[in-house]
Amino acid sequence: MIAFDRRHTDDLIEFAAAATSPYHAAAEAAAILSEAGFTALSERDAWDDSPGGRYVVRGGALIAWVVPDTATRTTGFRVFGAHTDSPTLKVKPTPDTGGSGWRQIAVEIYGGVPRDTWLDRDLGVSGRLVTRDGETHLARIDRPLLRVPRLAIHLDRQVNEGQVLDAQTHMTPLWGLGEPHEGELIAVVAEAAGVDADEVTGWDLMVHDVQRPAYLGRDGELLACPRLDNLVSVHAGARALAALTGRPLTHIPVLAAFDHEESGSESSTGAAGPFLETVLHRVLAVRGASVEDTARAFADSVVMSSDTGHSIHPNYPERHEPGDPPIAGGGPILKVNVNQRYATDGLGRAVFAAACERAGVPWQTYVNRNSLPCGTTIGPITAARLGILTVDVGIPILSMHSARELCAADDPARLAAVAAAFLSD
Ligand SMILES: [Zn+2]
Repeated sequence: MIAFDRRHTDDLIEFAAAATSPYHAAAEAAAILSEAGFTALSERDAWDDSPGGRYVVRGGALIAWVVPDTATRTTGFRVFGAHTDSPTLKVKPTPDTGGSGWRQIAVEIYGGVPRDTWLDRDLGVSGRLVTRDGETHLARIDRPLLRVPRLAIHLDRQVNEGQVLDAQTHMTPLWGLGEPHEGELIAVVAEAAGVDADEVTGWDLMVHDVQRPAYLGRDGELLACPRLDNLVSVHAGARALAALTGRPLTHIPVLAAFDHEESGSESSTGAAGPFLETVLHRVLAVRGASVEDTARAFADSVVMSSDTGHSIHPNYPERHEPGDPPIAGGGPILKVNVNQRYATDGLGRAVFAAACERAGVPWQTYVNRNSLPCGTTIGPITAARLGILTVDVGIPILSMHSARELCAADDPARLAAVAAAFLSD
């Protein structure tokens, strides 16, 4: 018996299956918004102060917002933040390699990859191609194309005592037999994208597990899904924002989906860059806002930074804080770290509690065990960059950063409900 409405999670499954790279994630979020009547803006064009939904895509990042009819030069923002990228293997500049009679693809390791989870999986390739004319083309081969084969246990009898996987020598996927041919991978990807391979002068490509997300468990109360970190938040934010057009709003609701969180956010599309700041300034500037007006608007703004957190793991309860053991299925989490690995403070906690209350959603607290170093996310970076009150939240998952992660099937819809309550505040 399924006690919850699966429509949101069904939709997340399609979103995650299609969003195999940050570029695809931004495009999928843009598709949700444009279907809801949002207009795509170019950063190169002049913007105006007309009300309604707008979005701008920059590479693998997207920022979207709704200007209410009632907006003034000092109207504050409600920003729901997330990130589009996930740990993966990225294709090296000279991809075609091999040895010992095998054709292989050279990769770099992106973000905090638990390497063993990428072994023996059927992997596709996706990302973007850039052609000589400067145009960008999304590209995706969503079928078994590559595999990083595990060494057989017979050749590594100590494997269950702790496996060492060297990033340079042990993680290179293979995709065929024979000698490598220079340019072969790009030619295959270009053909799949309908682009002339001779015109391709740049690319950003990465691998993904081609196995589709699936409900798991006797009653399907769990969701096994790649890239939950952090597509679950991008999707929740896009769906929540899309539902707000035409509603009475007292603030300007914003979705900020950044790239490069898994490598530290330091990029033109990451949270440490000026992308969000520039967009917020422009949204106010087109209304004639002064420096004083903008400072007043920022002082009346809040950022809710959403990312996945750790559910308590039944096999490793000693790795978790016993006083606050969040569990998958218990609702979204408030993430707290006194050393500002999470931006949450008492003011932010109250904002999150109020949003959960309005959404009618239960919530939990995540705090790291003192004896373990705490992870971080875009919240503290955004707070430091903008000086806006920021609260870190998310949903609890297992297997974070694995090629295939696990959450409760009803938590994504709860996160989206909290996002909607927060954005419409
Ligand atoms: Zn994350």
